[in-house]
Amino acid sequence: MEIVREIKQLQEKIVLLKQEKKSVGFVATMGYLHEGHVSLMTEAREDNDIVAASIFVNPLQFGPSEDFEEYPRDEERDIFIAEKAGVDLLFIPEVTEMYPTENRIEMKITKRVNVLCGRSRPGHFDGVITVLTKLFHIVMPNRTYFGLKDAQQVAVVDALITNLNFPIELVGVPTVREADGLAKSSRNVRLSPDEREEAKWLNRALIYGQHLIIDGENNPDIIVNEVKAVIEKKTSGFIDYVELLSYPALEEVETMNKQMILAIAVKFKEARLIDNLIIDASGNIVKHYK
Ligand code: AMP
Repeated sequence: MEIVREIKQLQEKIVLLKQEKKSVGFVATMGYLHEGHVSLMTEAREDNDIVAASIFVNPLQFGPSEDFEEYPRDEERDIFIAEKAGVDLLFIPEVTEMYPTENRIEMKITKRVNVLCGRSRPGHFDGVITVLTKLFHIVMPNRTYFGLKDAQQVAVVDALITNLNFPIELVGVPTVREADGLAKSSRNVRLSPDEREEAKWLNRALIYGQHLIIDGENNPDIIVNEVKAVIEKKTSGFIDYVELLSYPALEEVETMNKQMILAIAVKFKEARLIDNLIIDASGNIVKHYK
């Protein structure tokens, strides 16, 4: 595995690989890698000649009161994990390398963001699409891999690729979970032992909601309220949102006959956790998005 810290150096390598007609799979991360990230890298390894990954905690996607400074980091361990996962090129730029000058071009996504995390984190997805546009131009991947744990992000990347005509195939990879169902996340380390125990109820509440759908409940408000009730009863967390929307358009659902997302965000003392299930018209969980 090669570690690259400069954009120019990475671009030179990618151009040579492209001349050799190698396919490139790309995984963007903010580091502090875990099995969720590894599953994206593994899937990229299976589909492509070359796997490129990035580790970059992108300041643009953090709000002023969010955890940019405190976001967990461990570069040495990340390098070890990425190498073991089969990454060929690991891009670890400094903030000044990615943003050497004041941002003079602002990207703004207007659809798929007035709900879920987009509503509670204003500007977050503008920061995401800005950094991804840069990364896509630098890496020029044939395919890019994102986790469905961040399903709104997958919907946003889908819109970015379509709207800006990137010749990139988007792959949404299933959420990797702990044994008790908690979605793996770099932020889980910030849960207290009690909160960690309670956090398994996030996934359980979603599954309860899924079963209401399977059993024929077709009123979105009832499903949302039932899921909220489980979280309120079983955790000390503060509910940021529980929403049932169409997926990937992320619009209100009136009838249950299309693909939907049931998504939650819960704030614990030091960590805000998100999770979701993508559910088809028959109530089955959709694991992959292509
Ligand atoms: P992050 O480092 O949190 O920005 O995540 C980088 C990529 O890994 C994103 O596409 C995430 O959706 C994905 N990811 C994070 N956690 C998981 C997980 N538990 N399962 C699958 N993918 C994940």
